[in-house]
Amino acid sequence: MDPTKHYDVIIIGTGAGGGTLLHVLAPTGKRILVLERGDFVPREKGNWDSRTVNVEGHYNTKEIWYEKNGKSLHPHTNYYVGGNTKFYGAALFRLRREDFGEIRHHGGLSPAWPIRYEDLEPYYGQAERLYHVHGTRGEDPTEPPAGGPYPFPAVSHEPRIQQLHEDFARLGYRPFHTPLGIMLNEQDRRKSKCIRCETCDGFPCLVEAKADAHICCVNPALAHRNVTLLTNALVTKLETSPSGREIAKVHVRRGGGGNGGGATETYTAGVVVVACGAINSAALLLRSANDKHPGGLGNRSDVVGRHYMGHTNSVLLAVSKCPNPTVFQKTLSLNDFYGPSKDWEYPMGHISFVGKLDGVALSAGAPAITPGFTLELMAKHSLDFWLTSEDLPHADSRVTLNRDGNIVLAYVPTNLEAHKRLRAKLESLMQQQ
Ligand SMILES: Cc1cc2nc3c(=O)[nH]c(=O)nc-3n(C[C@H](O)[C@H](O)[C@H](O)COP(=O)(O)OP(=O)(O)OC[C@H]3O[C@@H](n4cnc5c(N)ncnc54)[C@H](O)[C@@H]3O)c2cc1C
Ligand code: SF4
Repeated sequence: MDPTKHYDVIIIGTGAGGGTLLHVLAPTGKRILVLERGDFVPREKGNWDSRTVNVEGHYNTKEIWYEKNGKSLHPHTNYYVGGNTKFYGAALFRLRREDFGEIRHHGGLSPAWPIRYEDLEPYYGQAERLYHVHGTRGEDPTEPPAGGPYPFPAVSHEPRIQQLHEDFARLGYRPFHTPLGIMLNEQDRRKSKCIRCETCDGFPCLVEAKADAHICCVNPALAHRNVTLLTNALVTKLETSPSGREIAKVHVRRGGGGNGGGATETYTAGVVVVACGAINSAALLLRSANDKHPGGLGNRSDVVGRHYMGHTNSVLLAVSKCPNPTVFQKTLSLNDFYGPSKDWEYPMGHISFVGKLDGVALSAGAPAITPGFTLELMAKHSLDFWLTSEDLPHADSRVTLNRDGNIVLAYVPTNLEAHKRLRAKLESLMQQQ
C-alpha cells in the first residue's frame, strides 16, 4: 500500500452532504482526502451578471444526460467546490415532524421514514449554526419543535413584501420570514459581509457572504493539515476487493475540467463516502458494477437510482399595477397549504419566492419575439413566487446508465393535482389583494 495514497477517509463531493461531513471530521485529526470533480467558482463580474448566469448558463455543467426516450437533457447542475450550494437560494428549512411519517397525498401514499424528526433535531441545530440561518421561531404554523432560537434574527421584508405579508395576514393566513443562510447583519450594515443584493438565488456570491458549503465548511476544514482536497478530480469507479465486501480502490481522473479528460490515479481509504448528489451518487454506484455486484454496488435490491424525486416546482409571476422595487425578495413564505387545510383534504405545497427576476432572466423563458422593454416592465411590476409540491417516490423515476456510461434520467410526474390547486389558490389570493 502506497502510504501517500492511503487515507483514513475519502469523501467524494463537496456539496451540502460532503462539505458538511468534512467540516465535522476535519478536527478529528483523521487523514481525509476530498475528491471534487469541479474547481473553485472563479470570482469574476459574471458571478452577478444575469445574462451570464440565466441566459448563457455559464456555470452549469456542459455534460449531457438523456431522457428515457434517448432525448438529450441539459442538467441545471453545477460541479464546483461547494456543489450546488454555491448557487442555491439559501432557504434553509427543517423538514416538518409530519414529513417523517406516512403522508396521504392526492396522488398516493408517501411512505414513512425509518427515523423520526426527533432523531435529527440536534443536528438541525448544529447545521443552522454552521450555515448562519436567520429566522424567527413560532411564525411558521407547520414548524417542528426546536431546541433553541435561530442563531440570527430573520431577514427583514422590504416594503412591497411587507405589504404582501400584511395582505396575507388580513385574509387570515400566516405568512412568515423564510429561514435564510446569508451573512447579513442588518443591525450593523457596515460590518455585514452580505450587501443584500438582487443576484443571490441561482448566482454564486461574489463577496462570499452566502452560507454555502465552500465558505462555511470546506474553507475552514482546509486549515487542518490532515485534510487534502483534490479539485478537477472525477471519481469514475469504486473498485471492490475480490470478495466484493470492501472498496479496495477509488479510481480518479484528474484534469479535463471535471469531465475526466486527464490521467487516472487510484486512492485507498478505510472509509469511502459517496456524496456526489442524488443523481451522480447513484450513477457512480451503477458504474462500479463488477462480477460480485453485476447490478452495481449496494444494488442487490435493484433500488439504487430508483424512486428519484425532485418535487413539482413552478414560478408564478403576479404582475400588478403596483411596482415591485424589492431588491432581495426571498424573505416571505406561506405554509398554510403545506398539509391538509380547510381548502383541501390533501397537502398542496409550499409558497415562497425566487430571487427578484429581471427582464434578462425573463427572456430566457420567453418567446424570442417578445420585446426586451416588455419583459423589463413586467419584471418591474411582478412578484415572483416559487411554488413547490410533493411528488411521490415512483419506482420508474430512475437513474440508469446508457451503453456509453452516460446518465439516463427517467421521471414519472406524480401528484400533479396538488400543484395545480396550489397555483389556483395563489392566483385567487393575489386577485383578492
Ligand atoms: C439554483 C438552485 C437553488 C437552490 N436553492 C435551494 C434553497 O434555497 N434551499 C435548499 O435547501 N436547497 C436549494 N437547492 C438545492 C441544494 O443546493 C441541493 O439540495 C444540495 O446542494 C444537495 O447537496 P449534495 O451534497 O447532495 O449535492 P451537491 O451540492 O450537488 O454536491 C455534489 C458534489 O459532488 C461533486 N461530484 C459529483 N459527481 C462526482 C464524481 N463522480 N467525482 C467527484 N465529485 C463529484 C459535484 O461536483 C458537487 O460538488 C438549490 C439548488 C439550485 C441548483
Ligand atoms: S444577497 Fe448577500 S449573500 Fe446573497 S449574493 Fe448578495 S451579497 Fe451574497
